[in-house]
Amino acid sequence: MVNDLVMITEAWAPQAGWPRIVFVNEAFVRLTGYSRQQVLGRPCNLLHGEKTDRNELDRLQQALASGEPVRSEQLNYAQGSRPFWTGIDMAPIRSVTDACTHWVFVQSDLSHRTRSSAEIEHLAYHDALTGLANRTLLLDRLHQTLAGCARNPVFCGLMFIDLDNFKEANDAGGHAQGDQLLLEVAARLQTCVREADTIARFGGDEFVILLQSLGFDPAEAAANAEAVYHKIAARLAQPFQGQALQYRANASVGINLFGHLPSTVDELIRHADLAMYQAKSAGKNTYRFFDMGMQKMVDERSWMGNELRLAVQRQQLSLDYQAQFGVQQELIGAEALLRWSFPGQGFVPPDIFIPLAEQIGVIVDLGTWVLDVACQELARWAAIPAMAHLVMAVNVSPQQFQLPGFVAAVFDALARTGARPDRLKLELTESVLIQDLSFVRQSMSTLRAQGVGFALDDFGTGYSSLKYLKQLALDQLKIDQSFVADVMTDSHDAAIARSIVTLGHSLGLQVIAEGVETVAQRDFLLSIGCNIFQGYLYSEPLAAKAFEDFACIQQRGANVQA
Ligand code: C2E
Ligand code: MG
Ligand code: MG
Repeated sequence: MVNDLVMITEAWAPQAGWPRIVFVNEAFVRLTGYSRQQVLGRPCNLLHGEKTDRNELDRLQQALASGEPVRSEQLNYAQGSRPFWTGIDMAPIRSVTDACTHWVFVQSDLSHRTRSSAEIEHLAYHDALTGLANRTLLLDRLHQTLAGCARNPVFCGLMFIDLDNFKEANDAGGHAQGDQLLLEVAARLQTCVREADTIARFGGDEFVILLQSLGFDPAEAAANAEAVYHKIAARLAQPFQGQALQYRANASVGINLFGHLPSTVDELIRHADLAMYQAKSAGKNTYRFFDMGMQKMVDERSWMGNELRLAVQRQQLSLDYQAQFGVQQELIGAEALLRWSFPGQGFVPPDIFIPLAEQIGVIVDLGTWVLDVACQELARWAAIPAMAHLVMAVNVSPQQFQLPGFVAAVFDALARTGARPDRLKLELTESVLIQDLSFVRQSMSTLRAQGVGFALDDFGTGYSSLKYLKQLALDQLKIDQSFVADVMTDSHDAAIARSIVTLGHSLGLQVIAEGVETVAQRDFLLSIGCNIFQGYLYSEPLAAKAFEDFACIQQRGANVQA
């Protein structure tokens, strides 16, 4: 079997073009994947592509013009853009009169032969698609740069670039188009930096740039790095030609300035990456500098997260109870509020640890614990005359509520403790409304059928769509305390409070105000029709025993009045 590709072309080539193919052999068809019909009559440069060496092509064209035979090695592309190396012998076919009538090209496939050492070196240190430096080369240059900084402490920069919307474009346009975009991005990045800088592709849609010598002063270095960022952002934002879909490349960029302090390559990369994630979480299409404060925050959060995972078994959690009062100013219930007492730090505020617990998934464990303890306490109240009628409100995180076993867990806690379901009220936030609504409705109605009540917490701060609100089996809307706080001084907040009450009542719901601190606020809220009140005016959140005492005093007061 002949393995060399043979191609014969006409002698004549159009101006600055390539002669047309008149024959290809069977090996050509086999190795390139093109059928004869696809190639006959077409210019013979159809195998050339993106990375075919332009100098070699110039040599071929000169030979065509002068009628001299020539040898060359070049990268060709088979159908589907598969690159392969060939050694080419190109020679003229002459008639008896010595006139050139055709050209014959004999190409041997070099893919399996050993490549030149220069090529091997290139492949080892460059990204196959874009030709940019690869990870190995970047790390190498980073080592060199760090060593240089030790002798001559100048600021350099490491820039992590992650395309924000590449995946969508790739999914929509297919991989060939995705590759094309990456090539274009690589080409644009190259126009934004200096000769001495290194641009690397780190895989996927991640690029890393090593910026040399940004200045001796940190402010100057930061300004220079920022200038590079702006250049990149502007270049990437220009539309991409020839794309079916209008793609504009946004990037999240993390910048780590270094050179003034000893560091390791590993650390530099980790920090640039971290800054890139900060840029992403700040809303994408922007940049962030790494600084030590950022690292400290991350360390603290991960440390705190680990501590929080252990909080249940270390018995560091407790519940406080904050009174809720009715329109007759009578005690009707309490909200259970979680407390984390951390050795050496006192109580960590829930506003800090609840969002963290939600992020790391611990909220489910915490929530289960809260539900259990609240139900135990509720069962205990049932035996105390001054407390038997009180309703316990328990906060439930969206994550916890969306668990398939949540409804069963509530019934289980009620059954185990013997607490009455109709004395339990769950406080949900508006974010449950963006979850699977039919599941939410199903869970709520199952619980409600047994008497469990529902309040929508922090109402007015979230996503509420009135359409959803109507579909949920709620009992109460809870006006967020931020509106209550300024209800006497801000006419907008007063108007919001008023409309929440109107809305709640028109849906047949009670309206509860949280964060009531002054008599004036209470009187205003009462006057607009609020049904329930909670806040420091009545009581701060209290530990179990203190709340019991509080409830007994309230009862005695009520008895005296009666
Ligand atoms: P929330 O459910 O809206 O709870 C009301 C918060 O307002 C409580 O803060 C309470 O101490 C505070 N507060 C009560 N009265 C006043 C007042 O008159 N003025 C002011 N300025 N604040 C008042 P806390 O205990 O720090 O809880 C903060 C948030 O943490 C809660 O907001 C709730 O979203 C969350 N949380 C607390 N316990 C739990 C829990 O067991 N599970 C879940 N998932 N979240 C909880
Ligand atoms: Mg609440
Ligand atoms: Mg609230």
